[in-house]
Amino acid sequence: ENTAAGRRTRPLLEAIALYKSYGSVQAVRGIDLALAHESYVTLLGPSGCGKTTLLRMVGGFEAIGSGTLMLDGTRLDDLPANLRPINTVFQSYALFPHLTVLENVAFGLSYRSLPKDRIKARAREALATVRMEAMADRRPRQLSGGQQQRVALARAIVNEPRLLLLDEPLSALDRRMRKDMQIELKDLQRRLGMTFLHVTHDQEEAFALSDRIVVMRDGRIEQQGAPGDIYARPATAYVADFIGGASCLPGRILGQVGKSYAIETALGRHVVPGVSGLSVGARAVLCLRSEKVALGETGTPAHVTHAVYRGADWLLECVAGGQIFQVTHVGPPPAPGETVRLSFDPDRVWIAREAA
Ligand code: ATP
Repeated sequence: ENTAAGRRTRPLLEAIALYKSYGSVQAVRGIDLALAHESYVTLLGPSGCGKTTLLRMVGGFEAIGSGTLMLDGTRLDDLPANLRPINTVFQSYALFPHLTVLENVAFGLSYRSLPKDRIKARAREALATVRMEAMADRRPRQLSGGQQQRVALARAIVNEPRLLLLDEPLSALDRRMRKDMQIELKDLQRRLGMTFLHVTHDQEEAFALSDRIVVMRDGRIEQQGAPGDIYARPATAYVADFIGGASCLPGRILGQVGKSYAIETALGRHVVPGVSGLSVGARAVLCLRSEKVALGETGTPAHVTHAVYRGADWLLECVAGGQIFQVTHVGPPPAPGETVRLSFDPDRVWIAREAA
């Protein structure tokens, strides 16, 4: 059913059982992924987890080891990079130093048989989209990092690809600039109605940008979902720790209580909601985020080991039962060495798997 409606219900990009090895290194180990139309998706994970390799296979810069890639129902596998309706923004921007800003952007169209003035007009439009039309005649070296990034973006969108790949595009920018560009990228994606697939190792960046986050580990997808979902309901200890640095307290499942589980940990027994499919006797972890733990009159005794001022609040590090807990605290903090009591509302914490 190759109708407009059929195309809409199908994902824009589908990766099916993708693998890639370099010699004995298995960089990508069985990825199944579907990207919705007009969505902003980030691949999030630590260095070496295979994010860039996956992106490069989608872009056509790296041959697929095995598996299938489909764009709008058409196989991409054998299509060379320049024939895929996909463009990439690289970390290094890769602008041509001897060309002007306008010429750099026009280069994105130069293989099309368009009249010269039409190419120039489209390049100017793309520059306007990233608010760089005033700098059309400059050379890349006369621009700041953020401005170069915008030019690279304009060049990548000028021929209206179906999918834009972004490989750590903001990593060369300072913190302030990065925050501004995050807002601009998200805004650009929305205005263009394009799908963006963005590689990052920065959790905050993934939260700021994404409709969907794909958390990767060792060449596989550990969990994917909306940012709020992944934050509130991590599937594994790895995701809970990587996203938002939750303290994960090991325990054992005692039984199921409605949609929650009874769990036994070093801090006692609790009934807490958690990831589905845990059986009685299974090892699991209780995920405690710093903002879900409070100091109180009652609760588990703990020692304060550090107190870090963060402006709006303090981040306390406490030790109880041989386990480190981070606690967000507003107001005057207890001193390191002091004994406090930690408590949490069982409904606001979460049980995850120990491993995938
Ligand atoms: P980073 O954020 O550091 O770029 P990444 O998550 O993007 O990391 P990849 O670059 O995809 O990870 O690398 C995944 C694994 O594959 C790593 O172990 C890496 O060393 C290996 N690898 C990547 N490219 C090659 C290559 N051309 N030859 C050999 N090994 C490679």
